[in-house]
Amino acid sequence: MAARESQPMKSYDLCECGTPLRPIERPTPKPAGTEILLKVLAAGVCHSDLHLSEGYFDLGGGRRLRLEDRGMKLPLTLGHENVGEVVAAGPEARGVKIGARVLAHPWIGCGSCKVCRRGEENLCLAMRSLGVFLNGGYADHILVPHPRYLIDIGDLPPERVAPLACSGVTAYGALKKIGTLKTEPTVIIGAGGLGLMCLALHRAMGGHSAIVVDIDPAKRAAAAKAGAQAVIDGNAPDTVQQIIEATKGGAFAVVDFVGSPATARLGIDSLIRGGKYIIVGLYGGEITVPLPPIPMRAQTIQGSYVGTLAELTELIELVRRTGLPPVPVATRPLAAVNDALRDLRDGKVIGRLVLTPAV
Ligand SMILES: [Zn+2]
Ligand SMILES: [Zn+2]
Repeated sequence: MAARESQPMKSYDLCECGTPLRPIERPTPKPAGTEILLKVLAAGVCHSDLHLSEGYFDLGGGRRLRLEDRGMKLPLTLGHENVGEVVAAGPEARGVKIGARVLAHPWIGCGSCKVCRRGEENLCLAMRSLGVFLNGGYADHILVPHPRYLIDIGDLPPERVAPLACSGVTAYGALKKIGTLKTEPTVIIGAGGLGLMCLALHRAMGGHSAIVVDIDPAKRAAAAKAGAQAVIDGNAPDTVQQIIEATKGGAFAVVDFVGSPATARLGIDSLIRGGKYIIVGLYGGEITVPLPPIPMRAQTIQGSYVGTLAELTELIELVRRTGLPPVPVATRPLAAVNDALRDLRDGKVIGRLVLTPAV
């Protein structure tokens, strides 16, 4: 291991928002304290990396949420969906085996704020997520702060497991918020990587049936092939009516993986009384919602952001029991990361792209 550690590590870093990631070499870090060093076997390319590399989220009305104001420091190695092999551990990192293949939970909090103490580190008041605040997996090596964030994956294929750290746990966390999952249809807006993951997990969790809405015919076809009970064109003039018909009276649960003004309107308008609209997507913008229908129709508008360590652990157990979600995965070498991001931005990706830095 000494020889390996003496070699420099390679990463692709965001050095300036709005510009391509740049190849960087630096000394391979030596884990201190509870830290663990992983050799990155698979790093998923996520839509939120586009937002991170642009440096902001659109709040609507010309306003922006700037990530540097939220504590993102450049240069930063992106990549928050990582599977790696343990190659070194700090003196206080207990219970880790050198050579183990692990999924790294990226949604790391401070561990001590009120939110973390409730088990929701993913919503921490001082996040230190991998690939957002700490260096991520668009690199041949990554440091993880503590062994508690590592989930052993045994012989599961790294490129299929990596997307579970964000795409998977985000879909899982949203589905867990639905009380009618097994008894009523669930409407899923957006059939990109997240939507298809959601569809697969919905089935694995014993979901009643899924109705998928997307504006892209290729994505609707992918959703139909993946087992959606109905697919609906999000650009049709009567999309809401079609959802109400497909759900026989309106949806008890809509999960929105787009999060645009148009999809939010669609989601809320499709609810039956007592229904819940769960917004996950970070497309951005704003909407105006009339207030009286919220109490009168007892509707819930709820946000869902990634997932907890407990949820990711549950998800890996679910996958071991029911099989990996059959979401299409294509692999690319680490050096192709900027091309991968461009293809994702251009909407050319069906399923998930995963970088394989160690290959
Ligand atoms: Zn992500
Ligand atoms: Zn915290």
